[in-house]
Formats: sequence, structure tokens, C-alpha cells
Amino acid sequence: MIENMMELDKLKEECGVIGIYAPGLKNISQLAYFGLHALQHRGQESAGIAANDGGRIQYYKEAGLVQEVFTDEIIRRLQGDIAIGHVRYSTTGDACVVNAQPLVVQHKGGGIALAHNGNLINAPEIREQLQDQGAIFQTSIDSEVIANLVARYSTTLSAEEAIRKTMEQIQGSYAVALTLGQKLIGVRDPYGLKPLCIGKFEGGYVISSESCAFHVLDAEFVRDVAPGEIVVIEDNEIHSMMGIKGEKKAFCSFEFVYFARPDSVLDGQSVYISRKNAGKILAQEHPVEADMVIAVPDSGTVAAIGYSEESKIPFGEGLIKNRYVGRTFIQPTQKMRELSVRLKLNVLKENIKGKRLVLVDDSIVRGTTSRKIVDLLKSAGAKEVHVRISSPPVKYSCYFGIDTPARKNLVGATRSVEEIRKMIDADSLGYLSIEGLFRSIQMPGDILCGACFSGNYPMEVPRESSQYVFEKR
Ligand code: AMP
Repeated sequence: MIENMMELDKLKEECGVIGIYAPGLKNISQLAYFGLHALQHRGQESAGIAANDGGRIQYYKEAGLVQEVFTDEIIRRLQGDIAIGHVRYSTTGDACVVNAQPLVVQHKGGGIALAHNGNLINAPEIREQLQDQGAIFQTSIDSEVIANLVARYSTTLSAEEAIRKTMEQIQGSYAVALTLGQKLIGVRDPYGLKPLCIGKFEGGYVISSESCAFHVLDAEFVRDVAPGEIVVIEDNEIHSMMGIKGEKKAFCSFEFVYFARPDSVLDGQSVYISRKNAGKILAQEHPVEADMVIAVPDSGTVAAIGYSEESKIPFGEGLIKNRYVGRTFIQPTQKMRELSVRLKLNVLKENIKGKRLVLVDDSIVRGTTSRKIVDLLKSAGAKEVHVRISSPPVKYSCYFGIDTPARKNLVGATRSVEEIRKMIDADSLGYLSIEGLFRSIQMPGDILCGACFSGNYPMEVPRESSQYVFEKR
């Protein structure tokens, strides 16, 4: 049972991490708290902050949104020079707070607090080996394997060496912020699958999943952590060493499609510009005669603006979003998923009645959202609804941290584009090509991971069958 839960967690994690280094400032946790607010879109299931006060680590983590989890009192109590923060999202239904992060462990040399974004594909094997040697685990998440290995190695090695040795063993995706001793450390897997960048503000440094967190901290962007790099911030300086060198970079293209905030710059490329480019290329690849381009807010908005600019069809508002409802993806059952689309979106009837619409969204995963929205628009009097998707069909499960269901539930894996068009009742349906997506990101295709679209995984992945186990439970 626990093994199953582990597998499940391994496949379904989406997270945001932040690390703050600010000796001398008295508000370390406040800064981490602000940073986490900016990363809230990366995970809404749980939030946590750990503060390192001269090696003594205090932490607080709980299920819920950042503003629900923390009170002034809690923030005031978490004092120190270095803080680690984490937001976590998962659809496992396992909202168990023991799996929330940062993970805090004690080892011979003191405390370690660690926040991880990504998925280790060989965590079960390592965990079993460690358990055979007598190690005990308190959570079912793969990140505890990292904490365990780092703690083990750092009894005899420096923190950097301990991390390097850990990196030799773990496989998969990881962007990690951790603190150990007087250090704030950022680590990125050798493929650079998940984003991680460094910023500087008056009195300190920040390491964050996304650069959008720098704005709220009034921090300046310094640089991205390189794939395979270990960045150490200590004595007010940044040091760096290569952990392990990857064969090639494989940055997650779905970060650009959906996951990251549009005001972030990931590995040198603006998410906003890439989404707008995607909309423009989509208009070139799938033109259509229509009266108005509308977006599924907010995920399709930027690409819809791009589509409108390129096609010269005016952009307008057709759907109004209730901003206070969480992501519909979170709903565990199909029925709830369908109802939550209504809860979240309403049609602006006056604006769409009798019109031929181009409806732009970022992706189709299960197909529930598009089907419901086309239905809502047509019931409200739209004459035609032409669906345009600013990413290619999602056909393969992600093993590296984007929450995609098992292949049998991915509509792009089981149906042709024409079958999907019929299923969602659209007048036409066009997806962006893989080549078009890579072009929109303005990075060469061979340094991007597009495995969820192509099945071309950057490394060997576990067999799909393990996922079906969970779907059946
Ligand atoms: P559906 O096709 O009904 O599964 O929903 C697809 C919608 O969910 C897309 O329009 C995205 O905005 C959103 N979405 C796609 N991937 C994810 C994800 N990994 N986590 C949360 N939401 C997602």
C-alpha cells in the first residue's frame, strides 16, 4: 500500500520552491511568505516554511493555500538567517500534511530543511536499499530520499560533496532549495527539467522556482541555476560547483504552455512572449474565418491575444472567470470536474451571441474543460465555436512533475483530432504543432522536453502499467 502511495506521489507532484538568505534582516519568514504567494500557482494543496537559526531549524507546514496556512504569529515565530519555502499541488487525494514540505531532518551535524520540485524516477529503488540498511522514512514522498542521502553523506563530507554524491544516485527531475549549516543551497538536475533561478535584494539573496517571485521581494534577477549545478550562498557570496554534468538539457516545455506564470522568465525566455508567439504560430497553422477571438481565462489569454494579432480577428471577452475558485483540475471525480467548470466560468452572452468564435486555450488534457465550455458558449447563442489549442495534443504521461493522468485518460492519447473535435462538439479544432511550440519558446527543440506530446523522454522512464494501479484503486 505504501509502495503504491509512493509511486503515486512520484508521478503527481507539482511544486514551487523558494530559499531566502538574509542574515541581519529580522523578517526572513515574512520574505519567504511573500515569495510563496508569488509561487502559489505552482501548488495549492499545502504550504510550508522552515527557518534556519544558526543550525536550529523551526518550521510550519499545513494543508491549504499560503494565506490560509500562515498567521502573523506563526511568521513571527519562524526566526533565522535562512528560510526555505514550498507550495505543493497533487491530485492524489492524499492531502496528508506529513507529505507537505519543506522536509526537515536532523543529522549528526544539525538540521537540514529541503524543498523539492520535480519527481525522482528511481526513488522507490533507493528507498528500498536505504530501508534494507535500516533507514526509516516518515513520508511517502520521493523528496525524502534526497534528504536521507544528503544527511548520510554530510556526516563525513562537506555539504557540497554530500549533494554531489546524492546527485550521482538520484534520477529524474529536481529543482531543490535547501539549507544546511549556514548555507542556502540551490540544486538543479542535470537535464534542467525544472526551473530554478537566483535573485539578489538589499540584504540578501533568493533562490526561486520562478523569477516572478523576485518582483514581490524587490529583488533583481542574477541568473538561472545551470543544469547539474550546485549553487551555495554563504558569507553573503554565491559559490558554485558542477554537481553532475548532464548529457543534454531538456527543459520542460509544459512550463511555458501552462504551468509557469506569464510574468516569469525561464532560462532566459519570457513566458509571456512564448505564449504570445504560440498564439501567433497557431493562427498561421490553423487559420479560420471568425468574428471574435476569445480565451479560456486565464490559461489561454496570452495565446488568444497572439492569435488575434496574427489573424487580425478582434480579441474580445466571452468568458468571465470567478477568480476565487481554485483550479478545476483539483476536483477528484469526473462529475465534480464538470460542475466546477460552471462554478469557475460564466458566459458573457451579450458579447458572443450570434458570433463565430475562435476559442483559445493552452491545452486539452482529459477534454472535460473544452467540452463544457463549447457547450456553454453554444447554449448562450454562439453561432460557431472553433477551438484552437496553443500546445500539441498531450499524448503521454509526464514522469517529471507535471500532473498528467494515466494515458488511458489522456484524450489525445486515445482519440484522433477529428474524434476529439466531435467529442467536444467544436466546429473545428486545431492544435499547435510540436515544431511550432518549440519555435514559440525560442529555444532549440533539442534542449526542451516535449515528452508529454511526443513520447520522447529525455531518460528511461518506468513502465506505464504502474500508473494504472492507482487509477483502479
Ligand atoms: P481538461 O482537458 O479538462 O483535463 O483540462 C485542461 C485544462 O486544465 C487546460 O486548459 C489547462 O488550463 C489545465 N491544465 C492542464 N494541465 C494541467 C495540470 N498539469 N495541472 C493543472 N491544470 C492543468
